[in-house]
Amino acid sequence: MAYVPKTLMVGRCWRCGKRLYKGDTFYYCARCNTYYCPTCYRKTFGKCPCCQLPLREV
Ligand SMILES: [Zn+2]
Ligand SMILES: [Zn+2]
Repeated sequence: MAYVPKTLMVGRCWRCGKRLYKGDTFYYCARCNTYYCPTCYRKTFGKCPCCQLPLREV
């Protein structure tokens, strides 16, 4: 994988702490204002573990 500068980091997965970079596929809960990685997205069946709102692909 190519080196990704820290400035492109969007945030961390709220659930597992994985770094999320701009250009990657990740998911967002608009209600909780939290991000999730694709792994956690699958594990939570596409729903926010906090509020059960369907996660939005970013
Ligand atoms: Zn995660
Ligand atoms: Zn939520």
